[in-house]
Amino acid sequence: MSSDESAKPDGLTMRPHHLMCLFCLKGGGNPPDRESAKLDEKLKAIEDDRNILITLETAFDCMGGPTTFPDKYDPATRRKDLQVLRALNMVPGATRNARELFHRRVPENIANLEGICQLGGESGSAWQECPLAYTGAYEKGLEEGIIIFRDPVQKEQSKVDSCDEIMSTDRLQVRPHHLCCILCAYGGGMRAPLEQDNLWEILVRSRQDPDVEIELIEGPCMVCPPCQGYDPDKDICDAGCGIKDRLKDLNTFQKLGLQHGDVLPARELWALLFEKLEKLADICDNPDAVIPEWGTCGSTHSGKYEKLREEGVEKLLNPDPEDE
Ligand code: SF4
Ligand code: SF4
Ligand code: SF4
Repeated sequence: MSSDESAKPDGLTMRPHHLMCLFCLKGGGNPPDRESAKLDEKLKAIEDDRNILITLETAFDCMGGPTTFPDKYDPATRRKDLQVLRALNMVPGATRNARELFHRRVPENIANLEGICQLGGESGSAWQECPLAYTGAYEKGLEEGIIIFRDPVQKEQSKVDSCDEIMSTDRLQVRPHHLCCILCAYGGGMRAPLEQDNLWEILVRSRQDPDVEIELIEGPCMVCPPCQGYDPDKDICDAGCGIKDRLKDLNTFQKLGLQHGDVLPARELWALLFEKLEKLADICDNPDAVIPEWGTCGSTHSGKYEKLREEGVEKLLNPDPEDE
């Protein structure tokens, strides 16, 4: 590893424009920094672990320092680094996981190399264009994709195993804001198991056995095992909503006056939720979000939670057959 792009015990450091170079590499190109920046090793590390953390480092720190004159890198690649960071709405020193960067942030914000590696001609000796700039390797790499998701067979098996557990356990484990997600989904028409999560099964178990204990936990819970955003090796959620979901959990706990590890019978818990939480916006809304990590969920203002709350806990747990 070069001194500026070393491996950290828990992740990688990379120059921002090397994120793009990995797409060129994936698209069949041979980036100029391939060896010096160990791009093949980095690509493998990312393909092996979509949750590996990557810190983006440039010649500058997050405030444009640390010195008056930059003493690292040539101007063309210094510029590329900052162009990429600006397009990604990030600053030097920012850290994200590989999934966020390669599956969402770069593809959503940088569709081509125009203005980054494609300069429309070379304006001086310091401003040479990369030989790959117009080859289409970057776009091909975007099409190929870099992130490797969960094996579908393993995901299907997780669904079966986790549903068995939900139906047989004496104590369900649910992260608090998922209680609200269950109601958003049910209010939106969920009447059967979903492939991607176990929201339905938690509701069904609560109906079948209203005295079943529900332990509230912060973080991925019994809803999560079949989800594409669940990393079973690390037992974490990497769906991109991870940090705002942490806040939603804490918001819900605060409203309920509870905390991680508290246990209530299902009926009592649903009743407490309806009593203490008047509107979903108190948990999920954030109209001032400027970066995707803090974006507001599309169901926040749907009114579904509020309608179910008005109907009450008895109707939720004992619905009219014609409503089902
Ligand atoms: S064109 Fe740009 S992104 Fe692609 S290898 Fe060259 S410097 Fe990297
Ligand atoms: S608004 Fe979205 S995050 Fe919030 S409870 Fe509903 S589905 Fe869940
Ligand atoms: S893994 Fe994440 S996105 Fe998926 S159900 Fe769990 S909390 Fe939600």
